[in-house]
Amino acid sequence: MSDEADLLAGHGPIETGRGLVSSAVSFSLALLSVLGVLAFRFPAWLSTPELRARYDVTTLRYVLFAAMVIAGALAIRNLLLGRYRKLATAAFGWVVLAQVLGGPAVKVGDLPEHSPYIGLDFFVLDLLGSSLIFIFIEKLRPLRKEQPIFRPEWQTDLVHFLVNHLVVGLTLLLTNRVVHSLGWFGNESVRARLVTLPFLVSLFLVFLCADLVQYWAHRAYHEVSWLWRFHAVHHSARDMDWLAGSRQSLFELIGTRIAVMTPIFLLGFPREVIDAYIIMVGFQAVFDHANVSAGLGPLKYVFVTPNFHHWHHSRDTEAIDKNYAAHFAFLDYLFGTAAKADRPWPDRYGVVGDYVPRGFVKQQLFPFLGSTADQEAQQGDHHTAAGKKKE
Ligand SMILES: [Zn+2]
Ligand SMILES: [Zn+2]
Repeated sequence: MSDEADLLAGHGPIETGRGLVSSAVSFSLALLSVLGVLAFRFPAWLSTPELRARYDVTTLRYVLFAAMVIAGALAIRNLLLGRYRKLATAAFGWVVLAQVLGGPAVKVGDLPEHSPYIGLDFFVLDLLGSSLIFIFIEKLRPLRKEQPIFRPEWQTDLVHFLVNHLVVGLTLLLTNRVVHSLGWFGNESVRARLVTLPFLVSLFLVFLCADLVQYWAHRAYHEVSWLWRFHAVHHSARDMDWLAGSRQSLFELIGTRIAVMTPIFLLGFPREVIDAYIIMVGFQAVFDHANVSAGLGPLKYVFVTPNFHHWHHSRDTEAIDKNYAAHFAFLDYLFGTAAKADRPWPDRYGVVGDYVPRGFVKQQLFPFLGSTADQEAQQGDHHTAAGKKKE
């Protein structure tokens, strides 16, 4: 098998010890370096305005420098050892290109206000940060020790991760527009009272407000059949880890974001509370999918944990249509949808019947085109007998 096919097209776990992991790291860092240099050169188009305001450019230059050195060193090492020469050559080529485009000393481009943009910088920084933090946590307290970092279908979920990040700017824009068009609806006296609340109380209320919307939206995604077709994409992951949560239909990603953020904006919570909420949600959303054995003792009845959300993703019988909450587990106890099982962790994940196709494009088209269960069955890559949505 060729280098590229091995790395990009394969849907199996990657064998270690052959230099493929270091090739993948080297290639990814080299490619991210080029994207980073481009974001430096064309910040108006390729950087996210909310992030841009907070950058420490000097630190980012050091990060870029480190990424290029590591990518280059690993590429040279693999070339010398004769391992994955094509990948190593390509990685080295990307490092050279990053340097030609300006490298760590690249001049920051012009920055006109209010231009349309795609959040390339958000993707680059979040991929680097998330993979470092969450892979560390997963190695520190693994739930399924035998599961490799590059588990089956990681490529598909990485594409979801990329596209989600690129459309986040669009989503925020849409939410702002929707809220703006409803702006008259906001209640000044509610707003005035919220501003006087202590930060933590306010933060709790944002989480509660978000989770009440999120709970019922999520429940609708499961219980209304045409909505389930969209949400099934998120449930189609058969291995859980930090990257698996990225798998989502864009319709759901954008729709849910608007539904959750609209009341928060309308009620008029203070800006710093909303910012804190967005950062914490970003962490929790990834953490709850991670391959990590985290229990919170009795607090598990209050907060959503990886254990709670892993049960939501299970296709074990007692887990079907349970554990909808995203932040507060008590909502499911309150509304009678908490999963009850005789063992701490579920056995299997995914959709009963396993009919959601593999691959990013097919998964985005799936809700509109219908099931491809027959094709999948023919490919022989399925885990269960064909079934309906749930059994
Ligand atoms: Zn769900
Ligand atoms: Zn999930």
